[in-house]
Amino acid sequence: MNEPATSPLMGIDDTLFLSTRQESENLQDRLLKLYHLYSASKACCMAMKVSALLANIVALLKKTLEIEEFYLLLQNEENGSFEMWAADEQLMEIADELTFRAGTGLFASVIKNGKPLLVQNIDKDDIRFILYKKKLPDVSSLLSLPLLGATGQVFGLLNIHKKNGRCFDHKDELFLFSLAQNMALALERTRLLEKAQQEAMHDELTGIYNRRFLFDYAHKELCKNLRSNAAFSLMLLDIDHFKQINDNYGHLYGDQVLRDMATTLKFKIRQSDVLARYGGEEFAVLLPNTAANAAFNLGEKLRLEVEKKGITPPGKTQLEKMTVTVGLSSFPADSNSLDQLFSVADQRLYKGKSAGRNRTVAI
Ligand code: GH3
Ligand code: MG
Ligand code: MG
Repeated sequence: MNEPATSPLMGIDDTLFLSTRQESENLQDRLLKLYHLYSASKACCMAMKVSALLANIVALLKKTLEIEEFYLLLQNEENGSFEMWAADEQLMEIADELTFRAGTGLFASVIKNGKPLLVQNIDKDDIRFILYKKKLPDVSSLLSLPLLGATGQVFGLLNIHKKNGRCFDHKDELFLFSLAQNMALALERTRLLEKAQQEAMHDELTGIYNRRFLFDYAHKELCKNLRSNAAFSLMLLDIDHFKQINDNYGHLYGDQVLRDMATTLKFKIRQSDVLARYGGEEFAVLLPNTAANAAFNLGEKLRLEVEKKGITPPGKTQLEKMTVTVGLSSFPADSNSLDQLFSVADQRLYKGKSAGRNRTVAI
């Protein structure tokens, strides 16, 4: 804030009035900032998804705090690089140029120390910012805020720019740093929540849905189709003599075969079909809007694809045989109960095994 203008002609009362008014304005300013901080924390705490939280953050920065230019980078847990997650439109266009690897780039010290970096005037700063200025010619001052997780590690950055020489002061820095900390904790929480939700639905080894998700989905499908009486089918696929693959080539190679099988099946089904790992070497596909005949055709298609692909175990150059046996059941033809539908598909699968394997059984 500017100091109140005084002149030699002013009396003590005038000066007192001006300084009191100034103090009152400062207080109002601080109160408003605290209110923003409170509303931001509230919105952040209520978000259950990363996308919703980021939308809240963008709205707060742009609309409420009227910050002209900003971008938010989060660390990719797999390769360690800091990647763009949110920004205003112009910066999104050069997102790739603002991404950097951990330990490198202009903001390495912010990440290392977990402390904000304030550059009052980029043009007057040393040569560090020459490249940055080339990418972002309008930037005058810069505030880089680390996003700290609950254990103090930096997992992201919120970078804020000002144009035309209107700089940040120390109070801005403190205020925005505490705001960034609220955002960081909320981001960490929603990211963990999403990760836990993903893990609860997926099979760790193959990355496809797990048995629990399949049952939940099948339950919903049944409830929906009980009303419409539209058909759906259930397919169970079991790899033939899988134990021999493990025994001959090791458990790790067996794991790879299971992953490859998930990929093979995924590419041969429709997007609306739900592929899951049902058990060890057993897979299941829920086929919405699919009656027994069409399900049988798909079963044969998948069986033949697996047979055609075979396996190439480590150290071997020639394909070795691998096949699956498929059991099917359909709603409403086979049953109105989910337990029954799974049980019928299972019985047919074992019928196929007893009949010599490498076949699809639908009746
Ligand atoms: P069948 O043709 O009758 O289905 O014979 P099979 O050998 O495929 O069936 P069996 O039930 O005898 O053996 C299944 C094997 O699958 C035994 C188990 O160790 C293996 N298995 C289960 N889960 C995994 C896994 O996650 N990874 C690996 N590598 N093997 C697994
Ligand atoms: Mg098997
Ligand atoms: Mg089995």
